[in-house]
Amino acid sequence: MNSLIILTAIAVFVLVIIVRAVAAAEKLYTAANIPPVKIDVASAAEKLSAAVRIRTIACDEIGETDIKAFRDFAAYLKKSFPLVHSEMKREVINGASLLYRWKGKDKQKKPVLFCAHIDVVPVETGTEGDWKYPPFFGAIKDDSVWGRGTQDIKNQLIALLEAAEAMIAQKFTPERDIYFAFGHDEETRRHDGADVIAALLKDRGILFEYVLDEGGSVLDNAVTGVKRPVAFIGIAEKGFVNVHLEAKGGMGHSSMPPEHTAAGIICRTVSRLETHSCPLALTVPVKQMFSALAPVTRPGLRMVFSNMWFFAPLFKRIFALSPQGAALLRTTMAATMLSGSGAPNVLPQAASAVVNARILHGESSDTLKSYIGKVIADSSVSIEMHQVYEPSKISPVDSYGFMRTAGVIRALWPEAVIVPYLVAGGGDARKYEELTDCVYRFTPARVDNSEMKQIHGTNERVSLQNLEDSIKFYTAMFAG
Ligand SMILES: [Zn+2]
Repeated sequence: MNSLIILTAIAVFVLVIIVRAVAAAEKLYTAANIPPVKIDVASAAEKLSAAVRIRTIACDEIGETDIKAFRDFAAYLKKSFPLVHSEMKREVINGASLLYRWKGKDKQKKPVLFCAHIDVVPVETGTEGDWKYPPFFGAIKDDSVWGRGTQDIKNQLIALLEAAEAMIAQKFTPERDIYFAFGHDEETRRHDGADVIAALLKDRGILFEYVLDEGGSVLDNAVTGVKRPVAFIGIAEKGFVNVHLEAKGGMGHSSMPPEHTAAGIICRTVSRLETHSCPLALTVPVKQMFSALAPVTRPGLRMVFSNMWFFAPLFKRIFALSPQGAALLRTTMAATMLSGSGAPNVLPQAASAVVNARILHGESSDTLKSYIGKVIADSSVSIEMHQVYEPSKISPVDSYGFMRTAGVIRALWPEAVIVPYLVAGGGDARKYEELTDCVYRFTPARVDNSEMKQIHGTNERVSLQNLEDSIKFYTAMFAG
C-alpha cells in the first residue's frame, strides 16, 4: 500500500513537471508598424563618424579643456540636425548635457523619454596601435563605422536624432511629447549630467509613460540551448558600491617585521571575500528571464526553466559556476585596487583595497556591509561604502512601454525571442526612476559576443545595417 502511494506521488510529480514544461508558451508580441520614413544611412554614418571625431572623453573632474569637447559636440549636433533644432526646444545643462523636447499633439498623453550619453570611455594607453582604424578617426570602412563610442553610445544618440530629423522632414508630429536626455557623465558616475536633468524634470512635475535607455540588444548565440537570437530588454539594474577596506600598520623597517603587516592583513581580507561569495538568490527579473526562455530552449532545459519551483536550488548552483550566471544570481564582489607602502623596504602604515560590488535585489549596501564585516571578522580593518547606488526598481513587463518596445523589436527582428532581464552593469536609466515606474534598457542592434567585447574595448564599431535598423526602431517608437 505504502509503495503504491509513493509511486502515485512520483507519477503526479513527474506529470506536473512535464505538463508545466509542455504548457510553457512563447509570448508573441504584436509587431508594430514601421512608418514609411526615408532613411539615408550613408548620411547617418557620416554624422556618426564626425561625432566620433569629437573627443568627448569622460573624466572624473571636468575642467575647461574637457568641457570644450562637449560644447563642440552640441554645436556639431545643431549644425547637423537643423530640423530637430528648429522644431524642438533644446536646453544645455551644466554646459555639456543636452535635453530636448519635441512637442506632441495630445496633452493628455504622458510624454516619453529616450536617453543616451555623450561621453565615451578613453582608449586604454598602449592599445591604440591594436585598432584597425584609429579610435577617434571615425572610419567608414567594411560596412561599419569604427571608433570609440560607435557602440557605447553615440550610435544611439545619432540614431535618435536622425530618426527625428527624417520624420520632421516628412511633417510628422508625435502624438505625445517626446524628450531626449543626453547626459555627459554616465561613464564616470558623477552627478552633474543626467542627475541634474532628472532633478530639473522632477521640478517641472513631468512624469513619463516610460523611459528608454541603452541596455540589452538582440544577441546571437547568447544562451546555451537557444538557437534563435534573443532580444534582451533590461527591466532592472543591480546596485553598485565601491567598498573601501583599510588596515592600519605600525611604522618600521621591513627587516624586523611584525607577524602581519597591514599589506598582509588587507590581502587576507580580500582572500576571505573571494572565498565567501554572497548567497545565491533567484530574483523576479531573473525568474522572468528564464520563464521567457523556457519555451524556446532544448527539452531538458525547458523542463528546468519552467519548473523553477522545484529546480531552483540545483539550478542556482550550476548556473552560478559561470561569471555571467553568478552576476544574475548574487551580489558580486571584485577586488579591483590595492595599495600598500611606497617602497619595497618600508612597512606600510596603512594598506587598502577597493572592492567593486554589484548588489542584487533583496539586498542593499547596508546588508552587504554587515555581510563583509562578518566574513572578514577583523576589527582592525575599516569598511567604508563609497559611490553607493542601491538596486533599481523593477519595471513591469505588461506596461505600454514594454509592449511598445517589444512590438517594435518584433517588427524589426521577427526571429528574435523577447526576454526581460536584469542589467548587471549600470547606466543613466535609474536616475529617472522617480519620474516613471517604467524604465527600460534596450539598444536597438543585432550583435554577437565578439561585437559585445568591443564595448569599452578595441576596434569598437557599428555595422551600417545596425545603424539603419536603430534609426527605423526609433521612428517606430516615436510613432506610438
Ligand atoms: Zn553607455
